[in-house]
Amino acid sequence: MTRTPIIGGNWKMNPTLPVAERLARELRNRLGSHRGSQVAVFPPFVFIDLARRVFRDSALEVGAQDVHPLPRGAYTSGVSAEMLVSMGCTRVLVGHSERRAWFGDTDVRVAEKLAAVLGAGLAPVLCVGETLAERQSGTTESVLARQLETALAAHKAAALSKLVIAYEPVWAIGTGVTATPEQAQATHAFVRSHVGRHFGAAFADALRIQYGGSVNAENAAALLGCADIDGALVGGASLDAGAFTAIARAGARG
Ligand code: PEP
Repeated sequence: MTRTPIIGGNWKMNPTLPVAERLARELRNRLGSHRGSQVAVFPPFVFIDLARRVFRDSALEVGAQDVHPLPRGAYTSGVSAEMLVSMGCTRVLVGHSERRAWFGDTDVRVAEKLAAVLGAGLAPVLCVGETLAERQSGTTESVLARQLETALAAHKAAALSKLVIAYEPVWAIGTGVTATPEQAQATHAFVRSHVGRHFGAAFADALRIQYGGSVNAENAAALLGCADIDGALVGGASLDAGAFTAIARAGARG
């Protein structure tokens, strides 16, 4: 099975309006006609409309960094999946480790958000990953299994056709410490086989699994060359149009 690589740029809570505008325009200039991998940018909510306008009729997609699990109501500051659809978003990150660490997103809350994203017809990017303590105590696989099962158990394979999983070891996010290609490949292979046990081999074979954790222009090719790594979710380096372009090109196939 040939899986089209997918590269995501997570701007997190970084750019102000002029920076976001410049970055979006530079990305449009460099990647607007990009082929060989899908490229999605995840700006802060307030810049989604800006990115959508700049990326109109280009190869670049716009996603959101989070979503509220409910469709509407008195939930001050919440942003629903329906709102994201109406803004032209195609993808949503759910379960990013910074959401889990700073905003208290539990596995159950992540599952609710994933269901909301699917219900609205958007593509979820389910982020999973172990902490350093969990890796060192040998519990990486059981942590990943728990995160995957809680998020996915309620769904049938057919409903998950747009699912992308981002394996992001927490110890590698924003630290400059990257998993080695061997470590990342081994963990991606585990994630694929675990998903396959629940949803079948064909589903697992088609599933795209991104790696995230200090990916940059220098290490991207080695990581993206691994058999079970189908793209990258990029934080820090996505704020540099040149570096992000190099990563997207390193991920391109064909
Ligand atoms: C991320 O935010 O998902 C991420 C992987 O960040 P960084 O590339 O900065 O480690």
